[in-house]
Amino acid sequence: MLEEIISLEERSQAIIELHNETESDFIREEYIITHNALVKQVQMLYEKLLADNESIPRSESLYIEKKDPLGICDIQNIDSIVPPNLVWIPQTRQYAISVAGTVIRGNLANIYNKRLIQSNNIRNVHACFGRTECPRVATGTCDYYHYPDDLYIMYKSGALSAQRFEAEIAKGRTFSTTSWMYDIHNAKTRKNKFMRTFGSLSTIQQDIAYLKSVDSKREVLDFKEQVMHDLLVLAILKKNGIE
Ligand SMILES: [Zn+2]
Repeated sequence: MLEEIISLEERSQAIIELHNETESDFIREEYIITHNALVKQVQMLYEKLLADNESIPRSESLYIEKKDPLGICDIQNIDSIVPPNLVWIPQTRQYAISVAGTVIRGNLANIYNKRLIQSNNIRNVHACFGRTECPRVATGTCDYYHYPDDLYIMYKSGALSAQRFEAEIAKGRTFSTTSWMYDIHNAKTRKNKFMRTFGSLSTIQQDIAYLKSVDSKREVLDFKEQVMHDLLVLAILKKNGIE
């Protein structure tokens, strides 16, 4: 069944790429319909796996395994000091690196445009406000993204079963294409919550003042995950002789 899921996910990923490349609205709609159907099939298969009381294996199409192709060492303790190179945290299935004292954790994410996210009701894009207090994650009914660190805390405290922890981790992360865009003025209106409100050299002081004035925890956590995504893409490019 896992092979079937992986093959469906690969097809749906290929369709997203075609969708993003095409100019024709009509063809884009067709791609969306096909993608939607594939997502439903994948969801049904995952639910069947869960119902069969099997632990849900990680999808190879969602995650790059740490040893192949990147050759990265493991750390066994989530609280270990992270050396200044990429390491792999098996518990949370994340890569980690320490940069100037800041520990960055994350993994490769799927990146879809906003239209596709909305038309397909794609979940796990926005981080959940509830964090470790979310009452819905234990039943698998929360539509929002939960940081693996938070899930691990919940699992260790007994708030999540091992099976649910695995299932939540396996969902991975999705970002909107606009998550990599910066617009300080957007911070005032927050019309597009996926956009960055900090990071430009000329406005960094204003950005910091803004971040201090709001609850910026999730925004910074998301930024860290995006940084890790970019670092992994760079590592993969190098591994493939592109630099
Ligand atoms: Zn939640």
